[in-house]
Amino acid sequence: MAKKSKPLDFHSKWRYAPAPESSDHVELKTSYGLFINNEFTEPLSGKYFETINPARETKLADIAEANQADVDRAVKAARKAYDDVWSKMPASERGKYIYRIARIMQERARELAVIESMNGGKPIRESRDVDVPLAAAHFFYYAGWADKLEYAFPGKPEVRSIGVAGQIIPWNFPLLMAAWKIAPALAAGNTVVLKPAETTPLTALKLAEIIRDADLPPGVVNIVTGAGATGAAIVNHPGVDKVAFTGSTEVGKIIQKALAGTGKKYTLELGGKAANIIFADATIDQAVEGIVNGIFFNQGHVCCAGSRLFVQEPVADLVIRKLKDRMETLIIGDPLDKNTDIGAINSKEQLGKIKRLVKIGIDEGGTCYQPSCSLPSKGFWYRPTLFTDVTQASRIVQEEIFGPVLSIQTFRTVEEVIEKANNIPYGLSGGVWTDKGSKIFKVSSKLRAGVVWANTYNKFDPTSPFGGYKESGMGREGGLHGLSPYVNLN
Ligand code: NAP
Ligand code: MG
Repeated sequence: MAKKSKPLDFHSKWRYAPAPESSDHVELKTSYGLFINNEFTEPLSGKYFETINPARETKLADIAEANQADVDRAVKAARKAYDDVWSKMPASERGKYIYRIARIMQERARELAVIESMNGGKPIRESRDVDVPLAAAHFFYYAGWADKLEYAFPGKPEVRSIGVAGQIIPWNFPLLMAAWKIAPALAAGNTVVLKPAETTPLTALKLAEIIRDADLPPGVVNIVTGAGATGAAIVNHPGVDKVAFTGSTEVGKIIQKALAGTGKKYTLELGGKAANIIFADATIDQAVEGIVNGIFFNQGHVCCAGSRLFVQEPVADLVIRKLKDRMETLIIGDPLDKNTDIGAINSKEQLGKIKRLVKIGIDEGGTCYQPSCSLPSKGFWYRPTLFTDVTQASRIVQEEIFGPVLSIQTFRTVEEVIEKANNIPYGLSGGVWTDKGSKIFKVSSKLRAGVVWANTYNKFDPTSPFGGYKESGMGREGGLHGLSPYVNLN
């Protein structure tokens, strides 16, 4: 007689088996000096600081802290390399070096991805599939432009490099931001002094090794580590001809003031608070995935995060229910586990900021929802969070949280949502979800935002410009637009 089979149980919870990515192949030194003239050198400051793994609160390495004299050394190295070698080299030769960097990055992609996740806290699936391939793609893309600059700017009699570029980047996409900065600068014939963020210096230092291995002439790229004071020393150094900054609006304003009247060129890529707009005629399940990607990608540490959700009234209850169901299934934990959807918050400081703003949201009358997931006991973690019962005036609707926190509002008409979406000091990005092409064109052309995605979110490509309006900054990175801040055209 056939054995009676057990009935299927759809209600009890099941878990994914752990699928950790190995970190055995990763080579990290115990301490890193400043990368100047293709060598790691002791800082004149004599100071080092620790960089940690935010998922475990364990030390990864000691990192040199550059003071003003160190920055001066780096700028002088960049100037000498510019005058003696890089500005004189045929552009096609320059392009070959940049291609070489791109290829070595691809060869070392696995190590770069693991280090990015260890140092920054982001899920390995993201560093492996987004950060590292996109970073290499930027070098490939700009390498191609190096010997075609006169075609990039048709009608301009002369395209000249600027000189030494001082570049300062944040901690949310450390390697990718370094690529956004370094690749166009080199392609246009400039030399570079770059400062990674204090909490995430490791992939930039690995990139320094790649640059050395690619045999770039010494001094063409210099990487100096440190905190805000090191960044300020770069901005204020008289030998720097162009400043490229990505970071907070607050620091962007300080830099803009410091540069006023100096004649230095600059670009500022600053904060954001994007509207993600769901119309009733959108494909709801796809839109829910887009909302999740928009706000929970990289723990919400994304300048273009879709942190303000606007849902059209007829589908608001449905969207919120589906969103909550989806949030229950998100896996939070070890960034090196391939199943992980949401990794660690980048630093204790950032975790404190998220908690402070969420408390303000609750105190102001917002209704806060978080899924029931458990969090690891060590490290910095925050549950994906959504707020309803908020208004345009709520602080959590107006201020950038830079964490996995979504605020939800509803709307009735196209005009209403455009007005609400634009009622913010920022203007970096936005999202529109609808079945109607005409609505996409109307809304995307009326949103005061540098990038608007339609029926998708967080899509990036090196050929496509990115940047903001209003307090989200000035200038564009990526594409041809990203080359123009690195050249003089008259
Ligand atoms: P941040 O505090 O402004 O820092 C950015 C970088 O500037 C870091 O390397 C920082 O050093 C350095 N810095 C701090 N004070 C400085 C000063 N007075 N002069 C010169 N440099 C200084 O920003 P964050 O907290 O790292 O990053 C988050 C912010 O970046 C968010 O607002 C986000 O929206 C924005 N962001 C924008 C884009 C974009 O493309 N628009 C992309 C990514 C991120 P430390 O290492 O000491 O902090
Ligand atoms: Mg900071």
